[in-house]
Amino acid sequence: MKTLFFNTKPYDKQYFSTFNEEHHHELHFTDVPLHKDTAVLAKSFDCVCIFVNDTADAKVIEILAQQGVKLLALRCAGYNNVDIPAAKKQGITVVRVPAYSPYSVAEHTLALILGLNRKTHRAYNRVKEGNFALSGLMGFDLHGRSAGIIGLGKIGLVTGQILKGFGCRVLGYDIAKNPECDALGIEFTSLDQIYEQCDIISLHCPLTPQTYHLINADSIAKMKKGVMLINTSRGGLIDTKAVIQALKKEQIGYLGLDVYEEEADLFFEDLSGKVIQDDLFMRLLSFPNVLITGHQAFFTENALQKIAQVTLQNITDYETHKPLLNVVN
Ligand code: NAD
Repeated sequence: MKTLFFNTKPYDKQYFSTFNEEHHHELHFTDVPLHKDTAVLAKSFDCVCIFVNDTADAKVIEILAQQGVKLLALRCAGYNNVDIPAAKKQGITVVRVPAYSPYSVAEHTLALILGLNRKTHRAYNRVKEGNFALSGLMGFDLHGRSAGIIGLGKIGLVTGQILKGFGCRVLGYDIAKNPECDALGIEFTSLDQIYEQCDIISLHCPLTPQTYHLINADSIAKMKKGVMLINTSRGGLIDTKAVIQALKKEQIGYLGLDVYEEEADLFFEDLSGKVIQDDLFMRLLSFPNVLITGHQAFFTENALQKIAQVTLQNITDYETHKPLLNVVN
């Protein structure tokens, strides 16, 4: 299928070109993101492939349909950036990669937890400068602490499993109880119990109208003072303004983010030397107890390999009229 990949980096081209050898699709790559002004680039393409920060709202979908696009292939799991009813209305099929490596994101979640706790980023800089003083670097044992997982799907369960390995008491909440919880020793509880009892809270649910700003002034007020909050899921789960107020009052003691609600203007680009206009983001960066990575939790060779394989298989299945295992609409 003639497929246009929006918003690509050199590593996308490398992995997709390698795995396309067995699929023989006609792949074209552009670094331009998909939005209403770029959707016309898809003229005469059968398929468009996009990533987390591309915009596929109703207007974009309408333009894509006018260009003749039949398939929208997401090279990611989340599809909060796609207007699914609009795609259905325009006859565009949407496929995704529901699971590529829950370990990639869960392990990065632990990198944020351990980094914040033991301040390895600060220690690294100090030692580089010949400063071997320890003051300000004190952490706590994870062993015996309570950790709460919100969203017990693939990534949440692996994160819980790893935290159990550290000797944490792990509490979990989801809209539906995952039967694997009991076997893993994860206590299924309410959201309020997580807020009230946990030293570490990690978000692993999707961004939906129900979860938008799940973490807000009210939920933060229920949390333990000095709580560690981690978000490797989607930026919109957190009300950034409320979190900044809580950091200032030391209600939140540590914040680890791999995602940010306004990340589309920042992440995946090298903006070094440029003036960043997002004042909320710059305020977050100013706290010593905030550790931010730029949506890199998925970024392992295992995950990129699986993303390429599954996306290309989705396209092949569509082209050959096979059942679509990963269809969204
Ligand atoms: P999943 O579908 O396996 O699990 C999500 C879980 O959240 C499900 O069990 C679902 O029931 C639960 N859920 C839905 N609504 C909820 C609510 N209102 N409250 C509590 N739980 C709710 O998804 P996954 O593969 O574990 O991925 C989780 C999220 O991680 C994705 O939605 C995506 O946004 C994010 N993600 C981030 C990266 C990254 O690089 N940072 C990479 C992949 C996925």
